[in-house]
Amino acid sequence: MEILDGKKVSNQIKEEITVEVAQMKARGEKVPHLAAVLVGNDGASLTYVGSKVRSCKKIGFESTLIHLPEETTEEDLLKQVHELNNDPNIDGYIVQLPLPKHIDEEKVLMAVDPDKDVDGFHPTNFGKMALDMETFISATPFGIMELLKRYNVETEGKHTVVIGRSHIVGRPISILMSQKGNPGNSTVTLAHSRTKNLKELTLQADIVISALGVPKFLKADMVKDGVTVIDVGITRVPDETSSKGYYITGDVDFENVSKKAAYITPVPGGVGPMTIAMLLKNTLLARERHNA
Ligand code: NAD
Repeated sequence: MEILDGKKVSNQIKEEITVEVAQMKARGEKVPHLAAVLVGNDGASLTYVGSKVRSCKKIGFESTLIHLPEETTEEDLLKQVHELNNDPNIDGYIVQLPLPKHIDEEKVLMAVDPDKDVDGFHPTNFGKMALDMETFISATPFGIMELLKRYNVETEGKHTVVIGRSHIVGRPISILMSQKGNPGNSTVTLAHSRTKNLKELTLQADIVISALGVPKFLKADMVKDGVTVIDVGITRVPDETSSKGYYITGDVDFENVSKKAAYITPVPGGVGPMTIAMLLKNTLLARERHNA
């Protein structure tokens, strides 16, 4: 069994980007600038955005955090989005989800300039991804593909079962794994909450990508020997004994599934850090495309 070490690989990617940014600086060029918009004070969102901004600083990017109060109106948020679209100093930005309930998420994401949409959530970018065109691939599926690539995990002709059909993980990764390429060329089954025979499917899978958000959902008796398991799930489980008051767990019963797996991602330290690295990669791409 080999651990697909997302922390290690994400650090490699960040080092590669750091070198590129230093070269940009040396040439007297503008360095990439990522902005993040956060509305409200959701604990997990604050943590995610905080670590995105810290990562920017570490690798030499400029970054701007726009933290708006919970009661921000949809109109004001849209105004902010338009300002970012028109600010030549900003190469890419993200609007951290989830947004407060009174704001129409779809409306906001649709307002983001696709050329600055480093999260890859805009329909233009999702559509381009599905058509195999140059675009911004959402950071989490992009990170999974990069992890598989760097560990040379064979995906061609393999049966990949994706659990979860969200627009940000399950759906895009099912498309990417089925596309021509390496990684890719996989035969994909997309399972979801209405799937009736999930265990039958996962038992046939060479690769399982689990993105549903239910702790320890994927058990050892659901996978075959030699399987590759990508655990996307991140759930905070309340824990009074921990200083944070919770611990983080994935969708996979790691202790038992890892005994049967050829490759497996841990949680934490698997897909999570890859997601941040690929957001940075997309911001670098945005800068390069604006330069071109
Ligand atoms: P979501 O929460 O929007 O949807 C969950 C999906 O799981 C749905 O498509 C649903 O059909 C499916 N599902 C639910 N119960 C099921 C069942 N019993 N059997 C089969 N399918 C079932 O999905 P999401 O936003 O992709 O998030 C999934 C998990 O991934 C969450 O834990 C989230 O925190 C995590 N996540 C991690 C990262 C990362 O960077 N590692 C990024 C995004 C999301």
